[in-house]
Amino acid sequence: MTRRVSIFGATGSIGQNTLDLIRRRREEFSVVALSGGRNVARLAADAREFGAELAVVADPALHAALKAALAGSGIEAAAGAEALVEAAARPAEWVMSAIVGIAGLAPGLAALEQGATLALANKESLVTAGPLLLAGAARHGATILPVDSEHSAIFQALVGEDVSAVERVIITASGGPFRDWPVSRLARASLEQALNHPNWKMGQRITIDSASMFNKALEVIETKEFFGFSPEQIEVLVHPESLVHALVGFRDGALMAHLGVADMRHAIGYALNWPRRRELPVERLDLARIGRLRFEPPDEARFPALRLAREVMATGGLAGAAFNAAKERALDGFIAGRIGFMDMARVVEAVLETLEASGALRADAVPPLDMVVRADHLARRQADAAMARLENAD
Ligand code: NDP
Repeated sequence: MTRRVSIFGATGSIGQNTLDLIRRRREEFSVVALSGGRNVARLAADAREFGAELAVVADPALHAALKAALAGSGIEAAAGAEALVEAAARPAEWVMSAIVGIAGLAPGLAALEQGATLALANKESLVTAGPLLLAGAARHGATILPVDSEHSAIFQALVGEDVSAVERVIITASGGPFRDWPVSRLARASLEQALNHPNWKMGQRITIDSASMFNKALEVIETKEFFGFSPEQIEVLVHPESLVHALVGFRDGALMAHLGVADMRHAIGYALNWPRRRELPVERLDLARIGRLRFEPPDEARFPALRLAREVMATGGLAGAAFNAAKERALDGFIAGRIGFMDMARVVEAVLETLEASGALRADAVPPLDMVVRADHLARRQADAAMARLENAD
């Protein structure tokens, strides 16, 4: 019996790594749906190679192009946000959620509703709507497996453990390309410099988020949402080698670390093989050759995203949705050259302050999808206004 799998964000970095693992054991899987954002050529080629039932491109303007690229293959072609949700509702046992941004939330929820095991790379889902996602999984008896390397590491360190015996968790950050840069230099950091990650090869947006530590800020919130730890239990350590992904400290003082080379196929493969462990094509760690592992505290003055994450967790309600949306807009602004590197945190902070003061972040314990989406839109508009103010001030 083959295992039915779907991959959302198949054309991206995580999606391609997932397909690489599936390609190596083709006979075990049958591919239900693959999705891409705009890269029709990649999507169609992969859909043909893996004999997918359905391919979905997120941009509706590319529907005809996808149909043309799949002509004669018998593979269904669909387009748009609703088609993504419909594709995620198609019965599959294992679904990879690797769309970037909040666009990954609704397909992830739909996959849980049909009871699939959701391998969750899209951290934005947990940050914006953690309670909704967990409630969806519980209601439909579905499992969520973390794919972010830090969260996969925590998950693995907790196997067989009593979660109530956990004192603290430590997630590591490489420090990115700007680890040693002073604030004055950070303010002038260029897009090209931000894209130059020392250890990980990832999609463009997460690479810049790593340089600003917004990625780590999302991960801190993700840790709270997914595992239910309190903000005080979650620590961040800068670890330039990126070999220890996370550590879990127990109340007897033991600290369990997860180590591995910086290769996302590790965490993806763990989620694919769970609850078993199977051979993975990743380089083995040679600690004697590496010799030394460094750890240092993060500097929140240079990387204010971490401080903002704590504020988001203290505020609760829709603060995560607003934080993520403001961050996504600020990132667009930085990529477009509208604002500087350090301005991203200024924009996000301004949005959070305005929305909190207006009461717009208050919500019940499990805010529904439409409330999350409204908060997202509101925060994007506020972020645009904050960026316009910064531009005018120049
Ligand atoms: P990429 O940018 O490489 O890929 C993103 C994927 O999402 C692509 O398939 C892209 O399509 C698709 N996409 C983009 N916009 C939309 C949209 N509006 N609607 C639907 N699909 C869209 O990102 P990554 O693979 O690096 O990251 C994916 C997710 O995994 C993110 O949430 C990231 O934070 C998380 N993650 C990534 C890690 C990594 O090492 N890369 C590590 C841990 C987590 P297309 O390219 O065709 O336009």
